[in-house]
Amino acid sequence: MDLHGILKTLVAHDTTSMRSNLALVEWIADVLDQAGCRVRLSRDPSKTKANLLAWLGPEYEGGALLSGHTDVVPVDGQVWSSDPFTLHERDGRLHGRGAVDMKSFVACCIAEFAARDRARLKRPLILALSYDEELGCLGMPGLIADFGAAGWPKPAFAVVGEPTSMRIATAHKGVFVGRVDIRGHAAHSSDPREGLNAIECATDVVAALRGLAERLKGHGSALPLDPPYTTLNIGTIGGGEALNTVPSASSVVFEFRPIPEADGGAIWDDIANIVTTLDARLKALIPDAGATLARLATVLPLREQPDNAAEHIVRTLMGSNAPSVIMPFGTDAGHFQAAGIPTIVCGPGSIAQAHKPDEWIAIDQLTAGRRFLSAVGAWAARTN
Ligand SMILES: [Zn+2]
Repeated sequence: MDLHGILKTLVAHDTTSMRSNLALVEWIADVLDQAGCRVRLSRDPSKTKANLLAWLGPEYEGGALLSGHTDVVPVDGQVWSSDPFTLHERDGRLHGRGAVDMKSFVACCIAEFAARDRARLKRPLILALSYDEELGCLGMPGLIADFGAAGWPKPAFAVVGEPTSMRIATAHKGVFVGRVDIRGHAAHSSDPREGLNAIECATDVVAALRGLAERLKGHGSALPLDPPYTTLNIGTIGGGEALNTVPSASSVVFEFRPIPEADGGAIWDDIANIVTTLDARLKALIPDAGATLARLATVLPLREQPDNAAEHIVRTLMGSNAPSVIMPFGTDAGHFQAAGIPTIVCGPGSIAQAHKPDEWIAIDQLTAGRRFLSAVGAWAARTN
């Protein structure tokens, strides 16, 4: 199957994050299995989503790991000129949901794995496809764990093919998403003294988070990020049962986006301390009241690394000495880096066309992506 045909099939599978990606992943697994890959799937707890790992070539250290996500953002509320799940070509562009973010890179990988003569590979090619990246890299912990469970040797480098117009990106912020749930105590509003107002407690949490956000502004990044500090946003707040009832429950959902130099875990611990202190205060008033903190998602930052082997190898393969870039959004890349694999982000197409109605990739970008994958395959077939 040619590259265009592969991309058409990938786009035809509606893998919006809220839906199952199994049909798509099983189709890719079949194609890669026929190409001689060893393929592993790791499922989410609901068994409706799966990550895919595929290994082509000898089981040596020092291979190339290529990675993409299988999910796409919703088309709900968007006006499209054509069916989003049918790849349409117009004016040198291919339109479809996921065309640029990021099924074109995945298609380039599949085409290369299918075309490459496995017997001639001196180094392995590894494909890693995740689920629910768009919801906060939810598939990545399971994908990294499955790589460990396979007992496969460590690759020399990883490339996450998010759209960078084929520029090399070496850093981005992370995203930590959390929810604070507060249990108060219901009472008739005519005598609030009988209850414990969960919404008022939530405003204490909001005030504490705002204070933290102000402090985080004081720790600037040396990288050209905008804004150049860790941001914190309170996204939703909910609670209350009725006007004449003291609310018994409330919740606050927030995210913070740590700069690559920041310790996201330490910031999370600061928030955990705020919640633990509140919990103790509430329990002292009413034993069954309290506050808890839940982690909803973790996108690890991609940290700039001196002498990044991934950057060095990819520069050589692309013959590029263009300056590397810093990305304004998070990707799966930080999770590979945290697993000890030198990692960059580099893929075809522009993020400017992602997540929008009539999403598209320029055909010359798709071609550039395919050329890059050919270079990676040729590298794997050489000894030096
Ligand atoms: Zn993406």
